[in-house]
Amino acid sequence: FSENLSRAETYLQRFREHPTTHFIAGNWTAPDTSRTFDNLTPVDNTVLGQVAIATAEDVDHACESAHVAFSEWRNVSGAERQKILHRIADLLVQRADEIALVESMDCGQPLRFMRQAAVRGAANFRFFADRAVEAANGQALYQPEHTNLTLRSPIGPVAVITPWNTPFMLSTWKIAPALAAGCTIVHKPAEFSPLSAAILADVAHEAGLPDGVWNMINGFGEEAGKRLTEHPAIKAVAFVGESVTGSHIMAQGAATLKRMHFELGGKNPVIVFDDADFDRALDAVTFMIYSLNGQRCTSSSRLLVQSGIRERFLSALRQRVTNLTVGHPLDPATEVGPLIHPSHFDKVMSYMDIARKEGACIAVGGQKYQADHVSNDGNYVTPTLFTEADNTMRVAREEIFGPVLTAISFDTEEQAVNMANDSDYGLAAYVWTNDQARSLRMARQIETGMLWINSENNRNLPSPFGGIKMSGIGRDGGDYSFDFYMETKNVCMAH
Ligand code: NAD
Repeated sequence: FSENLSRAETYLQRFREHPTTHFIAGNWTAPDTSRTFDNLTPVDNTVLGQVAIATAEDVDHACESAHVAFSEWRNVSGAERQKILHRIADLLVQRADEIALVESMDCGQPLRFMRQAAVRGAANFRFFADRAVEAANGQALYQPEHTNLTLRSPIGPVAVITPWNTPFMLSTWKIAPALAAGCTIVHKPAEFSPLSAAILADVAHEAGLPDGVWNMINGFGEEAGKRLTEHPAIKAVAFVGESVTGSHIMAQGAATLKRMHFELGGKNPVIVFDDADFDRALDAVTFMIYSLNGQRCTSSSRLLVQSGIRERFLSALRQRVTNLTVGHPLDPATEVGPLIHPSHFDKVMSYMDIARKEGACIAVGGQKYQADHVSNDGNYVTPTLFTEADNTMRVAREEIFGPVLTAISFDTEEQAVNMANDSDYGLAAYVWTNDQARSLRMARQIETGMLWINSENNRNLPSPFGGIKMSGIGRDGGDYSFDFYMETKNVCMAH
C-alpha cells in the first residue's frame, strides 16, 4: 500500500505542479491561471492540481483542428492507422501502472479494478486497430439490371464526452473505433476526473498520430461541453453519462443535426430464481453492485429474488455486504473505495433517508463509513443493502450510482418479468436460473439492451453494447461502432 502511495505521488507530481491544460492541434495550450478549477481526490478531498477551463475560443480551436486534420486522416490507409493504434496500445501497456494509480487517486475506484481497466483500454485500441483495414469495406448486391455497391467512409470530426466513473476505459472504448474508422476527435473528459485523459493525449501524440487528429479540452459540461455539441464542424457526438444530460445534448445538437450515440444510466435488475446456483448467484449479485463502488452503468442495483430462497439468500448477502473491505483505493485489500465527489456522496446518502421514509429496511449500512484507516474528509459510504422494498419505491426506480443495493422479492416468473420491465431504464439485466427454457423466455421478455444469463457482466468486444429506453441510443462494439462513426453510401450501377 505505501509503495503504491509513493509511486502514485511521483506520477501525480506533474498534475500538482502545472495546471492540466487542453491538447489542441498537437500542442498543450499555455496555462491561464485565471481560468482553472480545483481537481479533488475522493480519498480526502484535497486538491490534486488545477485544471484549465476551456473558453469558447479553445473549444472552437479544437473543433477546427479536428476539422482540418480530418481531410488528411480520412485518407491515411487502414494499414497505417492500424500501426499507429497498435503503438498507442503498446504505450498504454508501458504506462499501465501510472494510468491505474493516477486513475484510482483521481476517481476513487479501487486499484484492483483500475489495473484491469488500464489493460482493457489497450485491448480496445488493439481490437479496433485490427479492424481499421476493413472498416470501409461495403458489400455488393446484384440485381438483374443493376449492381448496388455499398461504400463506407468516416463521418468526420467526432465529439467524445465521457463521465467520471471509469474515465480511462470508457474513453478508449469510444476513441479507438473513431480513429480506426478515420474520424478525428475532440475529447471532453468529466470535470471530476480529468487526469487519465491527459495521459491519453500524451500517448496519442507520442504514438505518432498527426496533429489535430486527437484533441482534448477540459472544462464544464454546461459551457465547454455545450459548445462542443453545437459546433458545426462536429458531425457526431459519442456521449456517456446521465440520461438527463443526454436529453440536453440531443437538444444542443439538433440545430446542426448531429448523429448521436448515447450510453446513459441504468437501474439494472438481477433476477435470482429459486433454482439458481446459489453460491455463484450470491458472488455475482455482490460483485455486480459493490465493485467499482457501485459507480458502474451496468451495476445490478435492483435485486429481484424469488420467495423460496429469499430468506436464505438475503441472510447470506447481508453477511457478504457486512464483510466488504472499505478503504483507500490504493490499498490492495480495498474492495470499495470513496465516491467521486462530496456532491455525489450527498446524493447517495440522501437515498438512506428516502429508503427509511418509504418504508424499506436498511439491512446493512445506511451511513458514512468511518474508520481509522480512511480519512474522515473522504467520500466513503458504508456498503448498503435495502430489503423489504418494492418496485414502486424511489430506491428501486432511480439510479443511485453508489454501493447500494435494493432487494425486492417475487413469487412467479411473470411477476419477475413485470418488475424487471417496470423501469424507465433498460441497459443491462442479469438472470440466474438452471431452467434453460425459462432462460430463453426471459431473453425474449426482458426489456434491456444486454442480458447476462448465469453470468456476471462479461464484455465481448465484437458484441453489441448499449441500452434501450432512457439508457441509451445506439450500440458499441465490433462493426456496430463503425456503423456509428461512418457514413454509408450506396452506388447503383446499371449493367
Ligand atoms: P454527466 O452526464 O453528469 O456528465 C458526463 C459528461 O457530460 C461530463 O464530461 C460532463 O462535463 C458532460 N456534460 C454535462 N452537461 C453537458 C452538456 N449540457 N453538454 C455537453 N456535455 C455535458 O454524467 P456523470 O455524472 O459524469 O456520469 C455518471 C453517469 O454516467 C451515470 O448516469 C451512469 O450510468 C452513466 N454511465 C453510463 C454508461 C453506459 O455505458 N451506459 C457507462 C458509464 C457511465
